[in-house]
Amino acid sequence: MISQNLNRVKESLSEGVRLVAVSKYHPVAELQEAYDAGQRVFGESHVQELVAKYEVLPKDIEWHFIGHLQTNKVKYLAPFVSLIHAVDSMKLLREIDKQAQKCGRVIDCLLQLHVAQEETKFGFAPDELLDVLSQEEWRELHGVRVVGLMCMATNTDDEAQIHSEFRLAYDTFCKVRDKYFPAEASFRELSMGMSGDYLIAQQEHSTMVRVGSMIFGERDYSKPFTAV
Ligand SMILES: *Cc1c(COP(=O)(O)O)cnc(C)c1O
Repeated sequence: MISQNLNRVKESLSEGVRLVAVSKYHPVAELQEAYDAGQRVFGESHVQELVAKYEVLPKDIEWHFIGHLQTNKVKYLAPFVSLIHAVDSMKLLREIDKQAQKCGRVIDCLLQLHVAQEETKFGFAPDELLDVLSQEEWRELHGVRVVGLMCMATNTDDEAQIHSEFRLAYDTFCKVRDKYFPAEASFRELSMGMSGDYLIAQQEHSTMVRVGSMIFGERDYSKPFTAV
C-alpha cells in the first residue's frame, strides 16, 4: 500500500522536485515500509516524535522538521536534523545558529513565508521578510545556512487562490534570491505543496513538496505521537 502510494506520488513529480514524505503521527513500521521502497527524506512536525523515530530508524534517513519550532526544543534536533523548513523569526534562527555551533554543524534552514489568508499560519509576510533580511543580522550567523523559503497555501478548494498564493511565494523567492543571495547556488529551495495542492505548487516552481496523507493515509490524531 505505502510503497504503491509512494510510487504514484513519485511518478507525478516534475523533474527536479524533491519529495519529503510527511510521516507525523504514523508509526515507525510505516516509515520503514516507505524506507524499504526507497524513500530517504522524511518530514515530522513534533520534536519528541522526530527524535524517537530518528533513534530507531536507519541512519541514512534525512530528517526534515516541517512544523512550528519552539526555541527551547532546537537543541534536541541540532545534532542530526537535515533541514528546518519553517523558521518564522530571527529569534528562532539565532537559537538554531547557537545550537548548531555547539554541535559543530551548519544547519540548513528555510524561512517561512506567510502567503495564506488564514490568520493562524505562521511566517513572515513578504514585505516583512525583505525587511528582516535587509537588517543583515543573518549574515553573522555561521551555524545556519538559509537555503530558501517555505510556505503553506490557504486550505481551500479555490484553485485560483492557491495558484496566486504560490505565485506570490515564487515571486518573493526570486526577489530574495536576487537581492540577498545572488552568488549562492545553495539558495534554491522553495518548499511548497502538500497532498491537496502539490500539483499546483509544482506548476508554480516548487522545488520540494511535503506530502503526507497521500502516502501514509489519514492520520490518527487520537493516538499520542510518542506511541511509535
Ligand atoms: C502535515 C503537514 C504536511 C503534509 O500534509 P498532507 O496533507 O498530509 O500531505 C505538509 N506540510 C506541513 C507543514 C504539515 O504540517
